[in-house]
Amino acid sequence: MPMTTVEFPTSGADAQARRSRLGSQGAFVGGGTALQLAWDGTPPSLTLLDVTQLPAAQGIALADGGLRMGAAMRLEALRRDALVGQHAPLLTAACNAIAALPVRHLATLGGNVAWGFGDTLPVLLALGACAENVDGRCEPLQDWLERADGTLLIALRLDVAVPPRVTFFEKVGHRAAFSPSRISIALSAGQDAQERLYGVQVAVAGAGLRARRLPQVEQALAGVRLTDGGGPRLRQACAIDLAQAPALARVAAAVITGRLKGADHGE
Ligand SMILES: Cc1cc2nc3c(=O)[nH]c(=O)nc-3n(C[C@H](O)[C@H](O)[C@H](O)COP(=O)(O)OP(=O)(O)OC[C@H]3O[C@@H](n4cnc5c(N)ncnc54)[C@H](O)[C@@H]3O)c2cc1C
Repeated sequence: MPMTTVEFPTSGADAQARRSRLGSQGAFVGGGTALQLAWDGTPPSLTLLDVTQLPAAQGIALADGGLRMGAAMRLEALRRDALVGQHAPLLTAACNAIAALPVRHLATLGGNVAWGFGDTLPVLLALGACAENVDGRCEPLQDWLERADGTLLIALRLDVAVPPRVTFFEKVGHRAAFSPSRISIALSAGQDAQERLYGVQVAVAGAGLRARRLPQVEQALAGVRLTDGGGPRLRQACAIDLAQAPALARVAAAVITGRLKGADHGE
């Protein structure tokens, strides 16, 4: 009979060390809302390390020109947070689009990110977020995701000193009411004096679509004016970046073209 046990490490270092010793027999747990989706009715034989009480993973604060968000923050707290609303409104928009209130009260930012498919990921990647590890060091979130080696996430950091001028977040589902996402897309970019885009960062995630940046799309949009949209080059770039999901590539191209015309333009 499989048995699930739960432990409550008191520091990030203890949690990381215990996780390393347990190997595949252990997993960090935040709200447990994504973990249990894979259990097919029967919880597996696992030791769950509850990381929601770790002191270093709490709180949302401005520090060193950046916004630091603890990995243990519940998505509903993140959604309502004034600092997030002011400095990272795209993240508020993503949280608005995630599940229903009871799930958001349980689900954590760390769990949404580490799951690999969460709706916060396109926004965090498009805004160039960094992942803070147990030793306090930060690395690009993209690198943290690619390693996928069971490293404990303590916090996410965003550089908010210079807000991007052009941004959007769009979640495409199956119907008008809440539905599991097909694809979520976020974009951030600067705009020069001729209104051409630069520093374009675009990322996506979705059901069955692991979060990622879209490098070809970013290249295709560099130097483009909002009024020009992306045209055939954008469609081609989406097809390359999302080669394994041609239908989603077409959705992505249509959303990016449409949203660039109506994106949020900073002053
Ligand atoms: C009904 C329902 C609707 C949902 N709708 C959405 C939706 O619209 N959008 C969406 O994005 N998601 C959705 N989800 C999926 C899920 O609820 C969220 O992604 C949630 O944010 C996961 O967070 P959690 O804390 O519950 O993660 P958990 O289930 O606790 O963990 C998820 C993964 O992250 C790892 N992990 C957790 N914390 C850390 C940490 N600090 N460091 C490293 N690894 C960690 C765990 O080991 C596990 O692999 C839905 C789930 C349900 C049940």
